[in-house]
Amino acid sequence: MSTIADNISLLDARIAHAANAVGRDPASVRLLAVSKTKPSQAVREAYAAGVRDVGENYLQEALGKQRELSDLPLIWHFIGPIQSNKTRAIAEHFDWVHSVDRLKIAQRLSEQRPAGLAPLNICLQVNVSGEASKSGCDPQDLPALARAVSALPGLRLRGLMAIPEPTDDRAAQEAAFASVRQLQQDLGLDLDTLSMGMSHDLEAAISQGATWVRIGTALFGARDYGPA
Ligand SMILES: *Cc1c(COP(=O)(O)O)cnc(C)c1O
Repeated sequence: MSTIADNISLLDARIAHAANAVGRDPASVRLLAVSKTKPSQAVREAYAAGVRDVGENYLQEALGKQRELSDLPLIWHFIGPIQSNKTRAIAEHFDWVHSVDRLKIAQRLSEQRPAGLAPLNICLQVNVSGEASKSGCDPQDLPALARAVSALPGLRLRGLMAIPEPTDDRAAQEAAFASVRQLQQDLGLDLDTLSMGMSHDLEAAISQGATWVRIGTALFGARDYGPA
């Protein structure tokens, strides 16, 4: 059985290979370890193998792990859908939020970000797969959303996040990620982050400029959601 440390070595090699293939510095691509459904102990093992950034989708689960891992200097990223009644805890307990897709949520996060903390790093989630996806803002609405979010004092807009429709077709993967990069360029803002690429499509994402790849399965193993 492969261990988490082995998986991280393999991922580092995949990332380096994909970056080198397009002439990018592998250090420009960062690994976000997505630990949803996995126990704190797995995150602890990932930390021991060099992981510093952890992504979680569910607030209560994340807060529990943060308590259990409070002895480690981890950087926490919220990557799941956000309900209004969760914004205060997210603003208080995370360093990054990758899944902002409407202004009301951004405004609440900004207002509720504690004054003693640095502005919350934000990626706007954009829907590049049309009807196939329920999350993410419509590309047409992105420029206005990005302008409004970049003016909020409690937030620091860093870039875009996307979860394209899964496909094994490399060309289709690249086309979707290229469209995210193009949307970011068209904003004309000073953004440094593209959060895109997961276990099955990280190479395509890196070829199109990903700076965070969000990896769950290839790092922690398959998720078991238990009996439905
Ligand atoms: C679960 C999840 C991931 C990780 O997906 P894998 O395919 O397991 O690597 C990445 N991003 C988001 C938003 C997720 O919900």
